[in-house]
Amino acid sequence: MPTQLVKDDIASLVDGLNFAQKVERSLDLINDSFAKFGERMVVANSLGKDSVAVWHLAKRVSPRIRGFIVTTRYKPAETVQFMHEEMARFPELKVFRNDDPQPDKLYLADPDQCCNNLKVQPARQAIEEMGVDCWVTGLRCTEGRTRTDFLEIEERDEGLLKLNPILLWQEREVWQYLALHQVSVNPLYAQGYRSLGCAPCTQITSGPDERAGRWLGTSKCGGECGIHTRPLKVSLSA
Ligand code: SF4
Repeated sequence: MPTQLVKDDIASLVDGLNFAQKVERSLDLINDSFAKFGERMVVANSLGKDSVAVWHLAKRVSPRIRGFIVTTRYKPAETVQFMHEEMARFPELKVFRNDDPQPDKLYLADPDQCCNNLKVQPARQAIEEMGVDCWVTGLRCTEGRTRTDFLEIEERDEGLLKLNPILLWQEREVWQYLALHQVSVNPLYAQGYRSLGCAPCTQITSGPDERAGRWLGTSKCGGECGIHTRPLKVSLSA
C-alpha cells in the first residue's frame, strides 16, 4: 500500500512525481483496495476524462471490478450516446438515475437542490444497492478551487471508504494516459469542453480553472454537485 499522504505531501507530489510514478501509485492504490474490499469496491464513472482513466486503471487491476454511472434527464446527447457505448463495452457498469418529478428548471432557481435530487440521491442508491464499502473516483486536486482539500484515501462517511487514486495527476497527465492507451473519450471534449456535466449547467471556458464552466454565472460556479461533499452512505429505506 502506498504511504498515506497528508495535505502538504499532496501539493509537493503533484510536481514531485513523474507520470510513470503516478500511474504506478494509482495502480497500487486500486490493487490494494481491491484486495481488501473485493466486490465491495466499486468505481464511480461520470463519463468524463478522469473517470474513464480511472476505469481503465481499474480494469488493468481486475476485469471483475464493477462500476456505476449516475445520469440525469439533462445530460447532453453526446454524453448519453457515449454512456450507451460504454455500457455496451462494459456490462458491469450499472446506471442510476432519478426520474421523480421536480419543478421545471429547478437548476436555475435552486441548483443545489436539483443536484441533490438528480445526482446525490442516485449516488446514494448506487452505494446502497451495490453493497459498496469503498468507492473509487476520478477526483484530482488540481481541477479547481473546490478540489484542493481531498486525500487519496478518505472516510468522510462512516463505513464508506473513498479512494481517489489519480488525486495527484495533472490534467495533461490524464490526456497523456488516455492517448497512450487509446481510451475512448466523450466527444464533447472535441468541442472545447474541459469539465463535463448537465447541459444547462456546463459551458466552454478557458483559463486555469478546469471547472470554471460548471454552473457559470451562479454562486455555485466551479463548485460541486454534492457527490463529493455530501454523505452517501445513508439508509434510503429509512
Ligand atoms: S448539474 Fe444542473 S441540471 Fe444537473 S443536476 Fe445539477 S443543477 Fe440539475
